[in-house]
Amino acid sequence: MQKINNRGILTVVSGFAGSGKGTLMKKLLEDYDCYALSVSATSRSPRPGEEEGVSYFYKTRDEFEKMIENDELLEHAEYVGNYYGTPKEYVFSKLDEGFDVILEIEIQGAMQIREKYPDTLLVFVLPPSASELKNRLVGRGTETPEVIEKRMTRAAAESEGIEKYDYIVINDDIDECAKQLHEIIKAAHFTPSHQADFIADIRKELKERKN
Ligand code: 5GP
Repeated sequence: MQKINNRGILTVVSGFAGSGKGTLMKKLLEDYDCYALSVSATSRSPRPGEEEGVSYFYKTRDEFEKMIENDELLEHAEYVGNYYGTPKEYVFSKLDEGFDVILEIEIQGAMQIREKYPDTLLVFVLPPSASELKNRLVGRGTETPEVIEKRMTRAAAESEGIEKYDYIVINDDIDECAKQLHEIIKAAHFTPSHQADFIADIRKELKERKN
């Protein structure tokens, strides 16, 4: 990808449980080599199949609070009774290396990031319809009908925040959706705020022009 400014773009991806955002992230990383996915810290317990350092860094509440105190997190939020947060170090080093870094986080964290780093791109992943969201939650086969109902109610509440994001992508066909997300991030490289150095250079050159 052509990048005049070599620094990567920080992109936040949020979406309802069941929107398929995890699969979408996997697909994006498989299809394109310009991305790095941040691994979050959490105080929740690992689910079957999850791996330390791959899915999350699993912490006790005390350990997590120490990370907050030591200013090790870019943002953090409490979600359904557990802490979640983004370790700073990985994000900054990957951005400096020129990777576009993706944070898959919920809305409170997204808003903190937007406030601290206004250049961040915010994308919300949506399912094609509410009924399809329910089908996907049922299809997972891991949740009771009560939990599914709770997730649908939460999705209704979370949908109120969609306008705070810069873009939505609709996750119907996963290949198409990954391609769209990639195009959006690619385009964001060419906003003036992401090309501030290039603009400053050309401005200087124009002003210092002798003839
Ligand atoms: P889960 O427990 O299902 O893995 O994640 C619950 C929610 O927490 C999801 O919406 C997920 O995107 C969000 N999440 C995961 N990591 C982080 C993080 O580092 N910060 C914030 N604010 N949310 C996160």
